Amino acid sequence: MTEERKMYDIIILGGGPAGYTAALYAARAGLEALVLERLSAGGQMALSHQIDNYPGFEEGIDGFTLADKMKRQAERFGARSRSTEVQAVSLSESPKRIVTDSGEYFAKTVVIATGANPRKLGLPAEEMLLGRGVGYCASCDGMFYRGKTVAVVGGGNTAASDAMLLSRVAKKVYLVHRRDSLRATRVYHEPLEKAENVELCWNCEVTEILHESRVTGLRLRDVRTGDTREISCDGLFISIGRQPVTEFLAGQLPLSPEGYILAGEDTRTAIPGVFAAGDVRQKALRQVVTAVADGAAAVTAAEEFLAGGL
Ligand code: NAP
Repeated sequence: MTEERKMYDIIILGGGPAGYTAALYAARAGLEALVLERLSAGGQMALSHQIDNYPGFEEGIDGFTLADKMKRQAERFGARSRSTEVQAVSLSESPKRIVTDSGEYFAKTVVIATGANPRKLGLPAEEMLLGRGVGYCASCDGMFYRGKTVAVVGGGNTAASDAMLLSRVAKKVYLVHRRDSLRATRVYHEPLEKAENVELCWNCEVTEILHESRVTGLRLRDVRTGDTREISCDGLFISIGRQPVTEFLAGQLPLSPEGYILAGEDTRTAIPGVFAAGDVRQKALRQVVTAVADGAAAVTAAEEFLAGGL
């Protein structure tokens, strides 16, 4: 019997805070648990330089270290992990089958904790300039732009709160939005309009990121007139929402219009024995603290399922 033929009580897809909390709870409950993670532990959290809103770390903690601690805590109770990419799943079967780039895995229950990635603009230089002026998390990297000029793209709550946060650090902030008003809640509108160092660029899209080895500016196009202009900036934060990692589900579970898995606070999905935890679940607040809560709820529900309940 190869390792892949083994039957796990619970397989957890994704090694972020939801995934490793599920692994911790499962291992402590005596379940045979395996985490399948793509690269290394932490998911989006691992990209945060400083996490100050996760209780228990009075000085804050960087996301990579917190992820490593979560992983090692789960391993202390016997949880295991593999670095592999999930390609497809068969969730209605019994056992449930997970196809990865390193073979097939089988489990009685599955927790989907694959998270959500920042949406990209899709501009040619965007990927190459990641970490060299282009960023997706102002609360992680904003501090590098003290006294500098930055642009934020987007018109939702993330873009608005990113622009507010950066206005307290940077010399100047451009907020570039493709419409003539923000989608963000009203609470942000007045402070942004009043902030002396925030310039709102309405009806504008970014058509090019200007750069040498780092970002030097943006080319903007007025979506109504087609006119273009250039602005100089040292950084660009792309804050246009997130894309849940659910493609591999290939229609097996009902999703929200944005692609998040429909599941309530108990994390139960439409398929018995399948649970959705963390940012991949349709929910109001996506934070580390809500992700870990989901991980615990998912295993509680999985235990009930394994015991013959619903
Ligand atoms: P969002 O609400 O989906 O907004 C995305 C914004 O990016 C929209 O303004 C959209 O423009 C724009 N956009 C999307 N694709 C674009 C593209 N290719 N080029 C240019 N602009 C593009 O996403 P979010 O702001 O990340 O918020 C996600 C969820 O988290 C929301 O439910 C939000 O309320 C919540 N959240 C809440 C807070 C809070 O303080 N309570 C903070 C952050 C996030 P259009 O308007 O034209 O569609």
